[in-house]
Amino acid sequence: MQTTRKHEESHSSRQVEQLIAGVVTSDGAGVTLTRVLGQPLQRRLDPFLMLDAFGSNDPDDYIAGFPDHPHRGFETVTYMIAGRMRHRDSAGHEGLLETGGVQWMTAGRGVIHSEIPEQSEGRMEGFQLWLNLPRTHKMAQPWYKDFTHADLPRFLTDAGVAVTVIAGQSHGVSGVVHRETTAPLYLDVHLPAGAQFTQSLPADHNAFLYVYRGAVQVGERAIPLQRMAILTNDPDAQGVTMRAIDDARVLLVAGHPLREPIVQHGPFVMNTEQEIRQAVQDFRDGSLA
Ligand code: FE
Repeated sequence: MQTTRKHEESHSSRQVEQLIAGVVTSDGAGVTLTRVLGQPLQRRLDPFLMLDAFGSNDPDDYIAGFPDHPHRGFETVTYMIAGRMRHRDSAGHEGLLETGGVQWMTAGRGVIHSEIPEQSEGRMEGFQLWLNLPRTHKMAQPWYKDFTHADLPRFLTDAGVAVTVIAGQSHGVSGVVHRETTAPLYLDVHLPAGAQFTQSLPADHNAFLYVYRGAVQVGERAIPLQRMAILTNDPDAQGVTMRAIDDARVLLVAGHPLREPIVQHGPFVMNTEQEIRQAVQDFRDGSLA
């Protein structure tokens, strides 16, 4: 019985619940970006609060960068596909994020930082993902680390799929960051046309894909370029199987939901209105960071 059941499960993938195109917007001092995951999806994709995609060959779209601004109550994960960005923060951290690198910042109780392009021409492309912190960690000490392209673990499957493991675990390969409560998985999956890739996922973890090159399909559903697919939380599915329609590059993100109240006011994400008022007050009187 056990064998049969396992066999069936190995063929069952989560499906596409919804495709999301995102909204083109401007942030920082005038950086053009696409907000793929915004406030309306925060409950559905708990513990993830935001995903911004940026990508342009035109310096006017990115050159202004993100001058000093605060954060409290969550973590920001910036993944640079192409380009160079300088980070400086109130906790004394400074780093240069370059092509293929990841910057992981835990804002915790408060950080004021700037993110400024260190290039005046050429392509700037990447993603910023916001990961919520559990109530008990929202006021933790800030933390920050840069990982270069070479620091990030990667593996190649027999089908020729190249996987970079930023967070969590995939096919026995462990990423560079782990979080006990939210258990985030963050993969960059490069698939040659026709190749298939399966990732196991706990049934209660919320999960999504974002296609940034080519196109893939999950089940019968195609996920075109620059679309996010929210994956079903199917209790019978062991994970997700995707197949590349063309040569494709896909972010696969999943995590354990916190199921706590989410109150966001711009760069502050807390559990209550009172905590938001406190964050605004602390920022105004200079005690946030
Ligand atoms: Fe920021």
